[in-house]
Amino acid sequence: MMRNCDVLIAGGGLTGAAAAIAAARRGHDVLLIEASNCLGGAACTCLVNPFMPYTTEDDAGSTVFLSAGIFAEIVERLNELTRELDGEDSSALGVPAKTFSEEYLKILLNRMAVEAGVRLLFHTQVVAAEREQNRLKSVTLANIDGLTEARAEYYIDCTGDAVLTAAAGFPTRLGRPGDELCQPMTLCFRVGGVDRETFRKNFPLMQEKYKALREAGQIKNPRENVLLFSTLRESILHFNTTRVVKLNPVSADEVTAAEIEAREQVAEMLLFLRRHVPGCEQAVLLSTAMEIGKRESRMIDGEYVLTQEDLLAFTHFADGIAACNYDIDIHNPEGSGTSHHFFPKGKYYTIPYRCLIPKGAENLLTAGRCISVTHEAQASCRIMPTVTTLGQAAGTAAALALEDGCGVRNVDVDRLRRVLADDGAFLG
Ligand SMILES: Cc1cc2nc3c(=O)[nH]c(=O)nc-3n(C[C@H](O)[C@H](O)[C@H](O)COP(=O)(O)OP(=O)(O)OC[C@H]3O[C@@H](n4cnc5c(N)ncnc54)[C@H](O)[C@@H]3O)c2cc1C
Repeated sequence: MMRNCDVLIAGGGLTGAAAAIAAARRGHDVLLIEASNCLGGAACTCLVNPFMPYTTEDDAGSTVFLSAGIFAEIVERLNELTRELDGEDSSALGVPAKTFSEEYLKILLNRMAVEAGVRLLFHTQVVAAEREQNRLKSVTLANIDGLTEARAEYYIDCTGDAVLTAAAGFPTRLGRPGDELCQPMTLCFRVGGVDRETFRKNFPLMQEKYKALREAGQIKNPRENVLLFSTLRESILHFNTTRVVKLNPVSADEVTAAEIEAREQVAEMLLFLRRHVPGCEQAVLLSTAMEIGKRESRMIDGEYVLTQEDLLAFTHFADGIAACNYDIDIHNPEGSGTSHHFFPKGKYYTIPYRCLIPKGAENLLTAGRCISVTHEAQASCRIMPTVTTLGQAAGTAAALALEDGCGVRNVDVDRLRRVLADDGAFLG
């Protein structure tokens, strides 16, 4: 069986969903291939929540939304859907959005993709690519039908792990220079049955107790403190606190080992909560994510590599297609500790279109957490609002390349920026 389309997108995370919607809204035939059973990627399969901050303030004190366009639509419609399904009690909702329901996000992204005319193919992995010089000819898909082929004019790799770019033989890198270590992997989980009022009052005590037990060797998790967030339900807490270090996120054996280690850390944390944290005596483990979350893994080596220096200089590139000011948030790849570098109010950097182009590629773009950036720069631009804007930019760029019959390196960047701005994106 051969599937044909104009634009093929590998990976349906927030990036891939936005890319597909953007390209399909311009009238193109878009096939979106997703390994799991839903859109949303890490937000859904890894239970990642909330949206990290994506606003700043201008000189007049007004809020500037650095992630807008399709991301803003998602936020608005997700708030509406949550109110419709949960009633007006959804007090944690708002704009800018933070906490959200990943179950409602799955419904919404399906709706948005179908409305735009995107063809979806779930439970399917892109496993190989055929290339002729710098052009991708076709990809191999693996699913219940066996191995089949799909052919497109343009391809966008939104797999998070740069699977398609690597399969096509374009250059990629892993982690930080020297030791190739990536930020830790984390299995997120939810705990219910919490008495929030008592828990809130005892929050500092919980952190002290955790630290003491870690120092006494009774807690094995290398994370320095307990990292948790609210959910839309008072009695349910969201934990982003397991930490698995020094394992390779693009090795099936090592990711398996990471899943096993992280699940033990979940058990350790559950017992800690029940035994030592007031308000959690009746805590129940509601769910663990379907997959361990990878903050960082393989990244492409693109036409430009965005660096920490670019971020610290608040660089605004002539071919900037997304903006970000999230802090450089590095969870120690070797063990305990997390470092932050926060941007001052009103300052942000932009991300050049060239970071989406694998070096030399003619008809392949890459978007999401695996774009061409250094370890440090990725620690900032990897957040969900930003990757959604990168997806919209990639989908729009592929559409324009198709319309102009040119390679992805020859896309008219001024036109791309104009189209993105007309579609609501913030470009600075
Ligand atoms: C533990 C953790 C906590 C985080 N915390 C936050 C936070 O609080 N707030 C925030 O904003 N960001 C946070 N992030 C960052 C953010 O979640 C990710 O960087 C972002 O979601 C990445 O989006 P993506 O679309 O690039 O990749 P993903 O969301 O990983 O999507 C990739 C998609 O591609 C699919 N796929 C992979 N390979 C293939 C293949 N071969 N064929 C077909 N499909 C494939 C996957 O199933 C997946 O759906 C966190 C990340 C982690 C791991």
